[in-house]
Amino acid sequence: MAVNKGFTLPAESPLNETNKKKKYYRKNVDFFKLVEKLKLWPSRSGTLHGIKTIKITGNIAEITTHCDETFVVWNSRTSRAARWLRNKWCVCACKTCKIPAWKIEKYTSTMMTQKWGANL
Ligand SMILES: [Zn+2]
Repeated sequence: MAVNKGFTLPAESPLNETNKKKKYYRKNVDFFKLVEKLKLWPSRSGTLHGIKTIKITGNIAEITTHCDETFVVWNSRTSRAARWLRNKWCVCACKTCKIPAWKIEKYTSTMMTQKWGANL
């Protein structure tokens, strides 16, 4: 007697495929969402820049800072910027960007009270 026949989801099932894609999307969208929400970007030298515009296309985001720097970043939780934002290594704001104090305060308190990956 094959009792379970018909109840096991085959690996190539469209349902499995959907779940996989959903998970993948969720896992990768968080970092950009965070950046989009904070509107802050840490440069390589550890300076915090204010984001003027952010254009997200899949796993790539084109960011323009208030000091008129445009660059493309890959969405990755393990990237330097992701680590920086998560660990809050240092907060030295870019003078050209003129990030308001309340924004930095908000960022600081957000990162202190919110766990990484919390619902944004
Ligand atoms: Zn700047």
